Amino acid sequence: MTCELVFVGTELLLGDILNTNAQYLSRQLAALGISVLHQSVVGDNPERLRQVLETALSRADLVMTTGGLGPTKDDLTKEVCAACFQKKLVLHDESLRRMKAYFAVKGVEMPKTNEKQAWMPEGAVIFANDNGTAPGCAMEKDGKRLMMLPGPPREMRAMFQSGALPYLRRFSDGVIVSTEIRTFGIGESAMAQTVSDLLDHENPTVAPYAKSGEAMLRVTAKAQNEAEARALLKPVVGEIVSRLGDKVYGVDVPNLETAVVKRLRQLGLTLAAAESCTAGLIAKRLTDIPGASDVFGCGVVSYRNEIKQKLLGVDPQLIARETAVCEAVAVQMAAGALSQSGADLAVSVTGLAGPGKDERGREPGLAYLALTDGSRTETRTVHTGQTGPDCRDYNRTVFASHALDMVRRYLSGRFGAVITFSKDCDA
Ligand code: ATP
Ligand code: MG
Repeated sequence: MTCELVFVGTELLLGDILNTNAQYLSRQLAALGISVLHQSVVGDNPERLRQVLETALSRADLVMTTGGLGPTKDDLTKEVCAACFQKKLVLHDESLRRMKAYFAVKGVEMPKTNEKQAWMPEGAVIFANDNGTAPGCAMEKDGKRLMMLPGPPREMRAMFQSGALPYLRRFSDGVIVSTEIRTFGIGESAMAQTVSDLLDHENPTVAPYAKSGEAMLRVTAKAQNEAEARALLKPVVGEIVSRLGDKVYGVDVPNLETAVVKRLRQLGLTLAAAESCTAGLIAKRLTDIPGASDVFGCGVVSYRNEIKQKLLGVDPQLIARETAVCEAVAVQMAAGALSQSGADLAVSVTGLAGPGKDERGREPGLAYLALTDGSRTETRTVHTGQTGPDCRDYNRTVFASHALDMVRRYLSGRFGAVITFSKDCDA
């Protein structure tokens, strides 16, 4: 089955919001084995929407829209879609009842304008909205299908899972399952070279991606059902993981911080951080993981030199001699964070995020990191090579990633093993 996605909303065209619905739906449909061949974005304009829908319906079996199902005058998706299929709108009693109940829970009466949302194309399959008012729907005519979902991502995603997915499963020919192998410390091209013979595979396919200093391989299998797809994935994923060795920090783990928090938790260890140029980014990334307080209790943002001295005990003469951006300062920052926090491990970073050079003329993208457990200290010097006017964000992200990578490598090495993978490929 082929599909075309149509995203309705003038704010998308103006760049006011990012089209996250596109990414979500494309991924979900790919997983169902439904081929998305085109995506369009169109403003809240009925005539242009009609044109886009007609083109989409002429070349795809299924057209899905998001947006424009609200109660206001500019929300016209349902009216235009119904007209394309020559369907009337009829009042859907169950949707009206749900909407009234939705408002009753909040203790307010439903505004009259919302009633418009309960008028649905005749004969359509209705998808209830558990997180808002607008129901979605799917209708069929002459072998073509048109499905409408609300714009707000929270409502759209929940409705996709509860209504659209069961509806679409009937049409999907097989499933597509992907596994992501995430690495740190190897470039995309070096990674691709290590597995170059596997990149020609057809099922599963192996595709490299790079993002913010990390490289990833996505292995994707197509089969009749999930178990068969996973059986196809297993040997290829195993082979890649063994070739890439300790560069792999996780399989189907969303990011480095998740891998680190999980490993700390498994080992019952706690971590502290002392950050200068990343100014809390390491702490932020770790605490993005729910329940991180089990393993992370202290982050010191020691941005100015006197704070490095006062809170972390960094020697002011050392800073005067070497500047704050040097290996010895990183080591003292880590030691200070360890003693202040009482954690098992502390990591630190001091560096030049940019965009300017420092007083010694050193280019941005340079950072010194240290990791200590009180008896052993490791250091790392990072040169990202990014010095342009927009380098600041990138450099800070990559410095923080290096700090997390030092922690996860330490956690693997200390207990005498590289990260091992269970049969579910779970790092
Ligand atoms: P509402 O009842 O809120 O009006 P709706 O179904 O009419 O819902 P829109 O008015 O098109 O949807 O969009 C409402 C909000 O949902 C937008 O302001 C935006 O924040 C979000 N949104 C809409 N479309 C998208 C999209 N494609 N990607 C991400 N967010 C979106
Ligand atoms: Mg709207």
